[in-house]
Amino acid sequence: MIKSKQLKKPQLVLIVDDQEINRDVLGMILEDYYDIIYASNGREALQMIEEYRDKLSVVLLDLIMPEMDGFKVLDCVRNDELLKSIPIIVLTAERNAELRALEMGAADFITKPFDMHEIILARVERIIELSEGRQLIQAAEHDPLTGLYTRNFFFEYANRIYRYQQGWHMDAVVLNIDHFHSVNALNGREFGDRVLGIIGDGIRAFLADSNGIASRFEGDRFAILCEPQTDYQALLDKIQTRVNEASHIAGIRLRMGVAPWREGVDPVTLFDRARAACGMVRGNYKSHLMIYDEEMYRRELLNQRLVNDLVRAVEERELKVFYQPKYNVQCDPPRLSSAEALIRWNHPELGLVSPGTFIPLFESNGQISTVDHYVWNEAARQIAEWREKFGVTLPVSVNLSRVDVFDPSLEERLESLVERYGLDHKALKLEVTESAYTENAEQMIELINRLRGRGFEIEMDDFGSGYSSLNMLSSMPIDVLKMDMKFVRNIVQSEKDFRLVGVVLDIARYLKVPVVAEGVETEEQLNMLKEAGCDLIQGYYFSRPVPPEEFEPLIVREKQIEREKQA
Ligand code: C2E
Ligand code: CA
Ligand code: CA
Repeated sequence: MIKSKQLKKPQLVLIVDDQEINRDVLGMILEDYYDIIYASNGREALQMIEEYRDKLSVVLLDLIMPEMDGFKVLDCVRNDELLKSIPIIVLTAERNAELRALEMGAADFITKPFDMHEIILARVERIIELSEGRQLIQAAEHDPLTGLYTRNFFFEYANRIYRYQQGWHMDAVVLNIDHFHSVNALNGREFGDRVLGIIGDGIRAFLADSNGIASRFEGDRFAILCEPQTDYQALLDKIQTRVNEASHIAGIRLRMGVAPWREGVDPVTLFDRARAACGMVRGNYKSHLMIYDEEMYRRELLNQRLVNDLVRAVEERELKVFYQPKYNVQCDPPRLSSAEALIRWNHPELGLVSPGTFIPLFESNGQISTVDHYVWNEAARQIAEWREKFGVTLPVSVNLSRVDVFDPSLEERLESLVERYGLDHKALKLEVTESAYTENAEQMIELINRLRGRGFEIEMDDFGSGYSSLNMLSSMPIDVLKMDMKFVRNIVQSEKDFRLVGVVLDIARYLKVPVVAEGVETEEQLNMLKEAGCDLIQGYYFSRPVPPEEFEPLIVREKQIEREKQA
């Protein structure tokens, strides 16, 4: 007797045969050792294989069946990337068919009629063992530097625990080093490797007393799957102390993210969450540990929803472009000079979603281009529509995100827009945030030069939020500076902030470009900015961003002022 037969295994076996008697006999042989599901023809079998693909350990497949025969099933499974690792044992009474089935990729065969129960059981067990073993070997094995598992092996193992050891609740823990690349750059790779080794030792010491497995994914990214701990801070401190003692260099800081076990969440997702939590530690000087919580979960669900819904939103025109005016305040009365296009999402269930919620999300997954292209087109169309309706061209600026900057078709796209709507290049202005300039200065300067060469005007957005030096600024081709809102917010209360506004205006004079102040909400703010010499004002004081139909009265009034001046 094979020892493991005494245990009822949690593995799942699918028995496929059109004859009820055959299904029953096989079921009786195997039911004490495996969970069994049944199908009575090929079509049904394929559906079940798809449905249970993550749980199935083996399929016992009759070859001759009505509707869809076993050969066809075999063929479909073998040619499907997701299914092809599930082993199939064919059931047959015919020698020739056996051979053909083995050639087609069956793992083994059992002959009918079913007599030797012991043999059938042993075959099934052997095939399951071999197949699991092969999957493990394929994913080999240990990271030479730390002795922990490699990423593939780790997940292979973790998935197995998840599938078969249902009662075993495990938390996901991710561990990183702050600024590991600088640790390497400053002290040499050898030193960096030693630090990684020390962390590996620390994790192994922890796992000596606690159930779990661990891996180094790559670089400084460590992952631990372990039974839930009451005090993760203690674990982090222990490993941190080891690093401090052995490295003799102060200032190597570890950070940890934890995603607590949750029913039905697979290891890959759980580690995504731990990684997200760990990412939130960055820049937090007080705590180096973050536990994935309900709030992060709600945010994750919302993000998933927005990501899934974006295509529909574009098709169903749920995305709305709002417009906010910019006024020239050096005239009396102030004159409407242009507008900024700002996206809104009118979601059927969530209501009006603000860009602050989805722009950073879509910037991180690349979908921002979809949004931006939509907005640019819509803005260009709107400029043309208003020109038609009111006989004036009101320039509109659109936002470029840092992702757009790397799009090789960007210039062509913008060019074809102005062409399609018959616009002057100056009518479609482009806002680029200062931090995008500072992140890839050379590439930006080249791109902006090419765009300006075509006649587009560039506004540097959120100026004062990035870190461009005066040297950089003087080589940066721009047409307008938009002062970051934080300067305006406190000018009335804070003399220091008002002085900073003066500095921005000085820089603009030095660069010979006009300044837009955004976020202007009160008359007092407006007057101070106007006196300091600020040219253009955008903010709630004049108008919130509004849908086009609410913007039109502003154009009408502007025409009125124009007429009165001429009269
Ligand atoms: P931003 O480009 O700096 O846009 C200015 C933001 O300030 C807008 O927020 C606007 O509604 C808000 N604002 C304007 N006046 C005032 C005021 O007086 N007081 C206050 N408190 N806020 C004011 P919004 O529309 O929520 O957009 C937020 C950010 O989302 C924008 O910042 C921009 O970075 C991004 N964004 C918006 N639309 C797009 C788009 O079509 N494409 C891209 N890539 N980003 C966009
Ligand atoms: Ca902007
Ligand atoms: Ca801005």
